[in-house]
Order: sequence, then C-alpha cells, then structure tokens
Amino acid sequence: MIIAIDGPAGAGKGTLGRRLAAELGFAYLDTGLLYRAVGAKLLAVGVNDSEPEAATAIAAALTPQDLRDPAALRGEIVGQAASKAATIPGVRDALYAFQRQFATDPPGHATGAILDGRDIGTVICPDADLKLFLTASPAARARRRFEELQRAGDGRIYPDILMEVEERDHRDSVRTTAPLKPAVDAVVIDTTEMDAAAVFAVALGQVERLRQR
Ligand code: C5P
Repeated sequence: MIIAIDGPAGAGKGTLGRRLAAELGFAYLDTGLLYRAVGAKLLAVGVNDSEPEAATAIAAALTPQDLRDPAALRGEIVGQAASKAATIPGVRDALYAFQRQFATDPPGHATGAILDGRDIGTVICPDADLKLFLTASPAARARRRFEELQRAGDGRIYPDILMEVEERDHRDSVRTTAPLKPAVDAVVIDTTEMDAAAVFAVALGQVERLRQR
C-alpha cells in the first residue's frame, strides 16, 4: 500500500506520517529532507538558485549520507534554500527515481510506504492507494513552528515566522513544476482546529476503510 501525504509546511504531515508508519509497520519518507539536503549543499558551496545546472548536478549526486543528520537540515534558512531549489525542474527530476523506488519497493521489505511532501499524490505517486492533503491556516502553522522553536530555546519572534511561512507557501504554490496542490482524489484534512491525535484518528479511519474494500 502507498500512502501520499501532501500539504504546506507546518500542517502536521511529518507527525502524521511517522505515527501512521509506526502503527501500520510501513516505511516512511519525508521527501522535504531531499530538497533540504540540496538546499544545504547549495548554501555550503555558495551556488544560488539562478544556477539551475549546478543545482541539478548537486541533486543528482545526493547520497544517503547527505540525509544522515535530519536535525541539521531543519532550520528555516535551509528550508528557504530548499524551496528555491525545488522550483528547478532538473532538481525535481533528479530526485524522482529515489522517491518512486522508495514507494514501490519500500526498504526493509515493509508492506507499505508513506511519503510526505508537496507533489506525492500528483506527481510521484499518482497511483497511491490513499492520498491525504493536510492544510491549516498560515497563522496556525506559524504558531506551531513558533512554539516548537521556543521549546528549543530559539528566541525568534512570531511575526517573522508567519512571514516566512507565507513566503514559502507562495513560492511552493505558484511554481510551474509540481506546484503544491491537492490531487483531485485527495482527502483534504484542515488541521487548524485539530490536535495530532485527532488528525491521526481521521487518517487511520481512511486506511481502515480502504482495507475493508
Ligand atoms: O517539507 P519541508 O518543509 O521540509 O520541505 C522543504 C521545501 O522542499 C518545501 O518548502 C518545498 O519547496 C520543497 N518540497 C517540494 N516537494 C516535496 C517536498 C518538499 O517541493 N515533495
């Protein structure tokens, strides 16, 4: 079984994906990490997004080593670099095969795969058994990110975080290649007023419905 989870930053995709994977014994891939690894390398070598060939070469040369330390890739500067790199068609093409392979032949002989990102249900796995599109108001998503940063001792202020969320939403939605949008057959879940347990219950209900068919 393939489960696609798409949606904007901070909608709760990662929390849901990890929880569903643990419950179902499926393999889980946070595809944002691939774009973040490309963004981090671009920053490290000083290449910017106006150099598509160099960015594509970096994406094509990505190895599992580059994903070893997810925490180091989580910051907003890397997130912005990732979202710029993600507008380059060559970068997306270079990352396609890895994601597709993960979905159709999940590691560890798992019986299913869960991928979260922006274009899983539309481009990477248009044939997914279940497509979930998580959304939430920009204010709710920025608030979650703000609270997470506060817990980590980061003193950044809420208005700055809201601005970054809106900037990244805009870039991800207007790009011409694989823009952020729900697949026509996706189940849309607005998590603005929901906690993680409620989102998990709705998603698991969808999986169970599928299994009963
Ligand atoms: O999900 P996360 O916020 O870590 O992703 C970072 C950036 O990578 C996103 O803002 C988006 O531009 C890009 N991305 C993408 N397609 C995916 C996953 C992430 O374009 N499937």
